[in-house]
Amino acid sequence: MFEGVRRTRLRIGRGIDNSARTYRQDRALLLSVATPIWRIPLARLRPVFALAGTLVLNVVFWTMALTLAPGPWPPQRVIAEFLSTSALLIMSTNLVLSTRAAPLEAAFGGLDKMFTSHRLNGLVAAAVVTTHYLVMPKSPGWVPSKFVGYPTIILLVTAVLVAIAPRSPWRRLVPLRYQDWKILHRFQGVLVASGVTHSLLAHPIVLALPLMRVWVYGVAALGLAAYVFRETAEPALLQRHRYRVGEPAHVAPDVLEIPLEPEKAAIAHRPGQFAFVRFEGGPTREQHPFTISAGPAEGRLRFSVKASGDYTTALQQHLVAGSQARIEGPYGGFDFRMAPGRQLWLAGGIGVTPFLAFLTSVEEDRDVRFVWTVHSRAGAFYLDEIERTLALRPRIEFTLHTTDTEGRPRLVDLGLREPENLSVFICGPVQMRDAFIRQLTDLGVRRGRIHYEEFSLR
Ligand SMILES: Cc1cc2nc3c(=O)[nH]c(=O)nc-3n(C[C@H](O)[C@H](O)[C@H](O)COP(=O)(O)OP(=O)(O)OC[C@H]3O[C@@H](n4cnc5c(N)ncnc54)[C@H](O)[C@@H]3O)c2cc1C
Repeated sequence: MFEGVRRTRLRIGRGIDNSARTYRQDRALLLSVATPIWRIPLARLRPVFALAGTLVLNVVFWTMALTLAPGPWPPQRVIAEFLSTSALLIMSTNLVLSTRAAPLEAAFGGLDKMFTSHRLNGLVAAAVVTTHYLVMPKSPGWVPSKFVGYPTIILLVTAVLVAIAPRSPWRRLVPLRYQDWKILHRFQGVLVASGVTHSLLAHPIVLALPLMRVWVYGVAALGLAAYVFRETAEPALLQRHRYRVGEPAHVAPDVLEIPLEPEKAAIAHRPGQFAFVRFEGGPTREQHPFTISAGPAEGRLRFSVKASGDYTTALQQHLVAGSQARIEGPYGGFDFRMAPGRQLWLAGGIGVTPFLAFLTSVEEDRDVRFVWTVHSRAGAFYLDEIERTLALRPRIEFTLHTTDTEGRPRLVDLGLREPENLSVFICGPVQMRDAFIRQLTDLGVRRGRIHYEEFSLR
């Protein structure tokens, strides 16, 4: 039945629990809280380092500024203003991150880590600004700075609580569609602008310290410029990558394959990268991220879209050949070439898409163990394509694992040699990914050698 494919059977366990997305979010949340910091690979801690770097720089600037102009400054005010300037700097950094600029993405090691940084920054800024309010000595009466400052604090804290709602225990209280959630983010620049206005109206110590003026308002101006750029230049940027939809085909009842030909120059992508796409002939003008499942040398793009929500389900009916698509990207650092030597590729369901691109680019002499877990044989929609590639890549050992007949996959049954020298790439549902990571670390695979990208950017 599987000619051309060396197929290994994994031991039968319990079937994968395909329960609701909320459960997976719960688990992911619990795991992220429960993982001790020393077990998190350094690459995943970049958002923490970036935040700590901003705070340390603020301490350094305050120390230098106070040394150059020693005061006397009331210590309570200095502490309160250290907090407010920290919040302003963090929020301004977030505006810069929102540009999705390529050099920043490279520094963070992927757009998903930039989004993690953005989320962490928002949370910390809300906490710091609240502390600022508590610490700051209050002047009597309703001075103008209070008219701006109080609403800014309330709006910032509310916006952050709502923004993190999809991953929080209070998500059921705030059932936000992704697009509504995204609209909320469009106001973050307004919050920074009102934070600056409040600061200028409050006659802070910062204004009396030239170094601090340049540092704090300089970074805020940079953040606001980035915000204006993102809000106004986005359509113009998207004009650059116009593609034409080829013949969309159902490779499975709920998976639509969409080929795209460039109208002018093609984007240069690496295997495993994704792009944001807006289909002019789609059900709405929403922009969604999809992995580019075509190889970089093919000159065209291909997306394989699973009906997993409103938009992706409607797209399956609405999209027609010949309509236009606008591409933003490519993004992402999920690239097998970043890791040397033997590799294990673990795909789950639609998570096979980056590996389809990997297969077009993998070196002939690279040893790869590739396991694709699907619910049933009918869901192995790219098996023919994988088989054809494997015929040319004898060093790739492939396993199709069907959970309806074989149960939950157990990596111990793969008999992995020298796990400490193995690099692993995982793409699939969060629950499966977390289970694999636990099994891999138990088997002795180094945590820093396990690579994955978040399939959810909020
Ligand atoms: C890096 C990356 C690569 C992806 N690659 C693929 C792929 O190759 N094939 C595939 O089928 N799916 C892929 N996805 C998932 C796909 O983007 C979502 O399934 C799709 O956006 C869901 O939209 P919806 O309105 O149908 O579903 P909804 O039920 O509205 O949304 C489901 C979840 O998808 C996310 N989402 C929704 N809308 C957007 C949006 N406009 N932008 C970003 N995230 C959104 C949110 O986390 C939301 O909670 C990828 C996601 C990411 C982040």
